[in-house]
Amino acid sequence: MNISFSQQVKNDLCALPLKKKCCRRSFLYGCMYVTRNFKRDNIEFGADTPPIASCLRALLSGVFGVSCAEDSKITISLPSDLDLVFNELGEGAAASLDCGVFVCEGCRQSFLRGAFIECGTVNAPGRACHFEFAVADEKTATELAALLNELGFSPGVTVRSSFVGVYFKGSEAVEDILNLIGAQRAAFALMDAKIVRELRNEANRRVNCDTANISKTVDAAQNHIEAIERVLTSGAADLPPALLITARLRIDNPDATLAELAALHDPPLTKSGVKHRLDRLVKML
Ligand SMILES: [Zn+2]
Repeated sequence: MNISFSQQVKNDLCALPLKKKCCRRSFLYGCMYVTRNFKRDNIEFGADTPPIASCLRALLSGVFGVSCAEDSKITISLPSDLDLVFNELGEGAAASLDCGVFVCEGCRQSFLRGAFIECGTVNAPGRACHFEFAVADEKTATELAALLNELGFSPGVTVRSSFVGVYFKGSEAVEDILNLIGAQRAAFALMDAKIVRELRNEANRRVNCDTANISKTVDAAQNHIEAIERVLTSGAADLPPALLITARLRIDNPDATLAELAALHDPPLTKSGVKHRLDRLVKML
């Protein structure tokens, strides 16, 4: 099965163990909280891939004691099952984000990991860096953004056609949020892509720069040679002997750089000495 980068990241996240029960509960709360159908009398949420589905089913059974059918959509609709869920989370957990669910240091991260698995997307390396939680409505987006702010993150919030996006863009912000939710491998993949891109840009810049320098040298030599040939045909005898020597060396060695030309003189000249003489020749036109 061909899966997207986002799905791969989610599968990786599902494979990470959550050691404490409080964190497993927060994780499930994150999954449910961002969906449209998280209500006191009915809960429905999706599971993108088979590994996600089996991870969610195992956690629901372990944390709440609720068993769900094997399906890509998880439904909890029996009143007795709903009681089990809301006994754990608190009666008001569906009405608004209840931070009372969070017990230990890791709970908020686990909640965000669950939220990402349920509604998140992240662009694959090589594309523009973008990470987004696609949540049901503006209230959910505001509460999620506030939670992220508490943790020192500053997401953007934008209303899209069928959902509200809580997003991060730019490589650093996206790497940071991926690290927060435990997606270190994805963060590394983005970092690698950035380094490759920077190296490639640097190499291109150097090649362009070298090419520009070479053609500048060639152009300059060509200008000199044309000028000197005209000067020589119009009256070589009038040239000071030193200039005549440089003029002949230039014409006889059209590919030589200024440094090479300087070395051909006897005794050798400095580069700036050669340049000075060539400039004088050109000015004689
Ligand atoms: Zn915890």
